[in-house]
Amino acid sequence: MKKISIIIPCLNEEEALPVYYRNMSAVMGQMAEVEFELLFVDDGSTDRTLRLMKEMNQKDPRCRFLSFSRNFGKEAAIYAGLKNAKGDYVAVMDVDLQDPPELLKEMYRAATEEGYECVAAKRSTRTGEPKLRSFLSDKFYGFINHISKVRLVSGARDYRLMSRKMVDAVLEMSEYNRFSKGIFEWVGFETKWIEYENVERAAGQTKWSVRKLFWYSVEGITGFSVAPLSLASVIGMVFCGISFFMILFIIVRTLVWGDPVSGWPSLVCIIFLVSGIQLFCTGIVGQYLSKTYLETKHRPVFILKESSREEV
Ligand code: UDP
Ligand code: MG
Repeated sequence: MKKISIIIPCLNEEEALPVYYRNMSAVMGQMAEVEFELLFVDDGSTDRTLRLMKEMNQKDPRCRFLSFSRNFGKEAAIYAGLKNAKGDYVAVMDVDLQDPPELLKEMYRAATEEGYECVAAKRSTRTGEPKLRSFLSDKFYGFINHISKVRLVSGARDYRLMSRKMVDAVLEMSEYNRFSKGIFEWVGFETKWIEYENVERAAGQTKWSVRKLFWYSVEGITGFSVAPLSLASVIGMVFCGISFFMILFIIVRTLVWGDPVSGWPSLVCIIFLVSGIQLFCTGIVGQYLSKTYLETKHRPVFILKESSREEV
């Protein structure tokens, strides 16, 4: 009998957890041919999330849990889950039912019958999401696909079912700065995409603000492309070219017409522009340097406070 492990990252989800468990139980009931393991990861919740997980663990042996010593982020939660999952197939699923548990049946069918190593879910619509967020998100996907070798799919969620082979490949990537969407694409393997209509959160609040999403996108870009690092060189060369012609022009103009001193406003503007560009480029270098810095420290991705059984 095959086993599916489901990793469910949770941060302050006391409202969504019971609803999720009810829905997931129904799906598990319909998939009697497989064994299940629900691996809840408490990402440093400050509400009753952990208590609910413990209760579920006592009532239902299929429910396991891991609890972090503080909030390490969803990426860390996914990594901890993957490390501890014992199933032949592993799925990552949000607890708010925005990743419909019913899709799992179709995913499992595609993985076992059609032989895909990975079956992932993708939203065909973004109804219910703030317009600004959809717009920025679209721009981000366009940009990162342009400058990076990994191909990210717009509308893709972290919701996916992976074979043991793929999970082991993902675990090989033990980097500290984790950007799962990129990692899943980077390891390769043919992925089948299943589309579905966007569903709104069942209960509770989203944990993502536009600011958090911005830094998440920086994580994605620095993690999977070094193209921005060459930006400074490219802009520098362009400016050198322009200044060369400007120097020529000014020498010729002075020789032919003489040169009354004037034009300091334009000079100030140019200084502002150029120093702005310089700072921006230094900032980019700083981003990469800080990632490298954290990477060389080899800090653990997460720290466990407690768990249901002896876990890693
Ligand atoms: N989550 C987490 N740690 C975090 C932020 C979020 O484990 O620091 C979990 C959260 O509990 C949920 C999932 O990640 O199960 C997705 O979060 P959310 O629904 O807030 O994001 P959205 O669906 O709005 O993108
Ligand atoms: Mg959500």
